[in-house]
Amino acid sequence: MYEKSQKLFAEAKEVMPGGVNSPVRAFKSIGMDPIFLTKAKGAYVYDADGNQYVDYVASWGPMILGHAHPRIVSAVQKAAEKGTSFGAPTEIETEMAQLVIDAVPSIEMVRMVNSGTEAVISALRVARGFTGRNKIVKFAGGYHGHGDSLLIKAGSGVTTLGLPDSPGVTEGVAQDTITVNFNDLEAVKEVFNQIGEEIAAVIIEPIAGNMGLAIPNEGFLEGLREVTQEHGALLIFDEVMTGFRVAYGGAQELYNVTPDLTTLGKVIGGGLPVGAFGGRKDIMEHVAPAGPIYQAGTLSGNPLAMAAGREMLLALKENRTYEKLEKTSALLAGGLKEVAQKHDIEVTFKRVGSMSCVYFTDQDVFDFPTAATSNIPRFRMYFKTLLENGVYIAPSQFEAGFVSLAHTLAEVEKTIHAADKAFAAAKE
Ligand code: PLP
Repeated sequence: MYEKSQKLFAEAKEVMPGGVNSPVRAFKSIGMDPIFLTKAKGAYVYDADGNQYVDYVASWGPMILGHAHPRIVSAVQKAAEKGTSFGAPTEIETEMAQLVIDAVPSIEMVRMVNSGTEAVISALRVARGFTGRNKIVKFAGGYHGHGDSLLIKAGSGVTTLGLPDSPGVTEGVAQDTITVNFNDLEAVKEVFNQIGEEIAAVIIEPIAGNMGLAIPNEGFLEGLREVTQEHGALLIFDEVMTGFRVAYGGAQELYNVTPDLTTLGKVIGGGLPVGAFGGRKDIMEHVAPAGPIYQAGTLSGNPLAMAAGREMLLALKENRTYEKLEKTSALLAGGLKEVAQKHDIEVTFKRVGSMSCVYFTDQDVFDFPTAATSNIPRFRMYFKTLLENGVYIAPSQFEAGFVSLAHTLAEVEKTIHAADKAFAAAKE
């Protein structure tokens, strides 16, 4: 059923490392060749062999309206007709900035970039430049893109491939990154007690979607807010995944904790390459050319990306988006739990709004060590069986799944039906 994809993958491997432009796409942790996609519409993606799948990858998060949404397609088409890049200021950049500022509680000023990685690298430079300190605290299993200083005990593809530290990251850089476990506030406090005056920032995915899905315990984010403030360090929420996903204002709106800086990506680009970082005005005014901290980009604020992003944010503001997403996602989770129980297989479900994860473990999951108790061979069987039955989830245990506004009861039922077979296969 995957012959054409296999042939395309063999050709791709000759000319691209591992046959892909981003590691998790290669299905390496599953032990099968990846499917090559040809098109997508609504809740579905289609592969080169003509197979149709209900999609929960959503391009790893951005496609919250569903694929090829007419509003986004039309916005991009109209923008393209006027020129694809100028490298000069445009009015739509100000409109986009205003939309982001109005939505995200911590953001008073924002800069657009071209990816989540770029947003995080830039935010860290700003945190270091502003505080005059070098060290960064992150959480094990938290993925913040592939910037050197955060490729330490990172999640997502790094965990999937078993590469906790990448060759090419210098010891000097690694020394400036301190890693603690998610939800372990005491450990964070201990680090601050020891070297608080050296710490520029704590960076966290407030809902950790790159180790599957780890949810902050009550008081954890508030505790981070307090300890950073006490020691003059910045708190950075990496909302590249959660921004405009778990609520219009992101996880900071949901949990009512306001960081100093926030990074965004994925949803704000509507599927085009966009990232952003922003925060307190007194900090952001240190960014060039207003201030001395350098940051730039030839394609930053690109008119196609801004047109897609603006349309996306306008669409999300309408029509009770997050209520609808919650309803569909809750239905799906309820159905999956039922079939898992029927097969008497040990699983732990985690969900926040339209983000969710099924772990093959009987333990509660709240940090990377508990996520790592998941039975990977069982996940592999679950994944493969879902795929064979027309359901496409992320090819890794350590990724969240996403429901979009295009998912209806029909797709939910199809998924639960496929999961019935997949849990049975996983248990064997
Ligand atoms: N931060 C988080 C929380 C992410 O999930 C990701 C990507 O998965 C990134 C940063 C990096 O974003 P990008 O892949 O656009 O560089």
